Amino acid sequence: VFSVRDVTKVYPMGEVEVHALRGVDLDLQRGQFTVLLGPSGSGKSTLLNILGGLDLPTAGTVWFNGREMTTASDRVLTMFRRNAVGFVFQFYNLIPSLTARENVSLVTEVSSNPMTPEEALELVDLADRQNHFPAQMSGGQQQRVAIARAIAKRPQVLLCDEPTGALDAATGITVLDAIDRINRSLGTTTVVITHNAAIGAMADRVVTMRDGHVASDQQNDTKVSVNELVW
Ligand code: ATP
Ligand code: MG
Repeated sequence: VFSVRDVTKVYPMGEVEVHALRGVDLDLQRGQFTVLLGPSGSGKSTLLNILGGLDLPTAGTVWFNGREMTTASDRVLTMFRRNAVGFVFQFYNLIPSLTARENVSLVTEVSSNPMTPEEALELVDLADRQNHFPAQMSGGQQQRVAIARAIAKRPQVLLCDEPTGALDAATGITVLDAIDRINRSLGTTTVVITHNAAIGAMADRVVTMRDGHVASDQQNDTKVSVNELVW
């Protein structure tokens, strides 16, 4: 799905430059579940944002299904972000004055091939929370609404930046279980950033970043189900 070649990212910070990515090469296969590990500041979020078209590299090339994204027009990038990618972040970013269904429908209304908000909420086990407002739901439930919102457009790729970062272990499991079931049932290519190396056990592949590089990249032949994770 993605090919990343020699991608660098430099942020100008006044007098100095921050080298967030220093030459990343990575290929992501369709349907693959990848966990992205690495210390704080190693460039994980920067890479994820570039994959999802939220930011452009300083140099290097990103292809999506053979199309060069780094030279694509704004219109192509807008369509890519609107239809091809779903994002989930640590903080759920739900709109407090809208119900679960209404939060999801904000996305289904503007994408080209959406499922219904009801279907999306069903996929994350929240069929019975359609009319709840964010404040009436637990953190794990709110994060699952955010996942429903991300996948309701039927994206090819689901990019999750520390989706369990704000949750306790047991609640985190329910969120990872939802992500895992979507990867298996819809075949959505999935990347999950986490600080918890144990989560790597449920992935097809574990990529570790250090200092703006891919430091290790391992296929996981003994992938376990979410319930078997030793947290
Ligand atoms: P964490 O685990 O703490 O989230 P990370 O691996 O996601 O870290 P990034 O957020 O990608 O790391 O940041 C990589 C480097 O780039 C850091 O040194 C960070 O301070 C810097 N950086 C990230 N975003 C910006 C920005 N918008 N402007 C300037 N510097 C930035
Ligand atoms: Mg980060």
